[in-house]
Amino acid sequence: MFIESFKVESPNVKYTENEIHSVYDYQTTELVHENKNGAFQWTVKPKTVKYEFKTDTHVPKLGVMLVGWGGNNGSTLTAGVIANREGISWATKEKVQQANYFGSLTQASSIRVGSFNGEEIYAPFKSLLPMVHPEEIVFGGWDISDMNLADAMARAKVLDIDLQKQLRPFMEHMVPLPGIFDPDFIAANQGSRANHVIKGTKKQQLEQVIKDIREFKEKNKVDKVVVLWTANTERYSNVVVGLNDTTENLMSSLEKDEAEISPSTLYAIACVLENVPFINGSPQNTFVPVNHILHTGLIELAIERNCLIGGDDFKSGQTKMKSVLVDFLVGAGIKPTSIVSYNHLGNNDGMNLSAPQTFRSKEISKSNVVDDMVASNGILYEPGEHPDHVVVIKYVPYVGDSKRAMDEYTSEIFMGGKNTIVMHNTCEDSLLAAPIILDLVLLAELTTRIQFMAETEGKFHSFHPVATLLSYLSKAPLVPPGTPVVNALSKQRAMLENILRACVGLAPENNMILEYK
Ligand code: NAD
Repeated sequence: MFIESFKVESPNVKYTENEIHSVYDYQTTELVHENKNGAFQWTVKPKTVKYEFKTDTHVPKLGVMLVGWGGNNGSTLTAGVIANREGISWATKEKVQQANYFGSLTQASSIRVGSFNGEEIYAPFKSLLPMVHPEEIVFGGWDISDMNLADAMARAKVLDIDLQKQLRPFMEHMVPLPGIFDPDFIAANQGSRANHVIKGTKKQQLEQVIKDIREFKEKNKVDKVVVLWTANTERYSNVVVGLNDTTENLMSSLEKDEAEISPSTLYAIACVLENVPFINGSPQNTFVPVNHILHTGLIELAIERNCLIGGDDFKSGQTKMKSVLVDFLVGAGIKPTSIVSYNHLGNNDGMNLSAPQTFRSKEISKSNVVDDMVASNGILYEPGEHPDHVVVIKYVPYVGDSKRAMDEYTSEIFMGGKNTIVMHNTCEDSLLAAPIILDLVLLAELTTRIQFMAETEGKFHSFHPVATLLSYLSKAPLVPPGTPVVNALSKQRAMLENILRACVGLAPENNMILEYK
């Protein structure tokens, strides 16, 4: 059975006019590795830590500024939200289609709240905590192409034509602000699109972006802004000692107009300086970490200013499947030994990725997604052993936005047998990415309203500015220094859901259903 909403009644939860306050027992373990009588031994000690969570229930008026607003993702998301807001339906050759939010975790998925008379009861994911309604969002942003959003939607060739016709009047007056363009960072084939650019030095470009954010906020009377990069994939920036390795060096490199500071890094610095959450939806190393243990300049700055940053790269199609399938195989005691992924796509993203430097960013982002699952099973894998993992991407204009992802998973099974799974996944690229963008901005906003503390801390604080809560939506989750990276999709979803449940004093979903055993 499905219910629309619920309220938690518990001595541990208080709903006041402005906040939800919950006291929560976090059950975890403490590991000890010690020498006992000449032999090292692991001991696991279950422990309970008391946490308090408080969530500000005032839902702000939210502005979302997309970098690359006029691209396939940006125009599809904007169109989709307007279509929902206006209750638009359109004729396809099969039926009359209604606008919906399918593919959005927050808007179209559910959570289990319990059992009632022998039936499982589910509620919308978004009923857990007060969230911004997508249709209340004011969209804006930048693009290096000056095309208005109605024309951009037509250029993208994603939505049905009858729908486009109805949306046009709502979108033709929407024109992106000029963007920061640096031909050194994206493929040369994007040059002809760049007719709408911010001139000047890197410092001046950064100042313009700051001005744009302030003016957008003022003009649209929004309480909060979230910025998300859905522009072209850039090449990797070099992480160089003295250039971008510390906040100080990064800021002085900016003064010196250093060539190696990418446009995406400039937007991100602008946001951090303005305390505006910034999410990177593409694979490049915008935040220039050295690795997930050692973090440098921009991340330091975000930590210093307690400004949410998240990324990298939307987890929409092939990688999402991979982070389900490999989790399943390894979890079933089956040993994947070779994973080969082919993609062909024909949209502008595909054209941009046909250059070796930008392809390399995508290849890196797609490459580490099975590491945590492989490392979790020392029965199957020797230390350091890894399946062969190859990713190929080709630009095939004819298929447009309808990306084909073909994967072959070969695994070793019982007694030397081999199992091969071959998958053909037609990923309507922007229709998969748009709801993910929506989730990213809604969850980024929500998490900035949550404060918590462990009993030992004595003071409420926000989540770490490097937003691991968004990792369900990211292909290569950015994590705080020294934090384990989790790629397995079910674990990422459980982490997010369980933390939001904790905010309203609900136990984590443990699937034990002991009531019926
Ligand atoms: P797109 O090429 O259609 O759109 C990108 C837009 O960014 C273009 O309109 C371009 O003019 C603009 N742009 C480029 N550089 C800019 C800059 N510096 N400032 C402002 N605007 C700039 O691409 P898309 O299909 O919308 O994908 C966007 C990004 O999302 C790509 O990097 C892609 O790799 C990433 N991504 C997409 C998916 C998916 O669609 N399923 C999944 C993961 C990641």
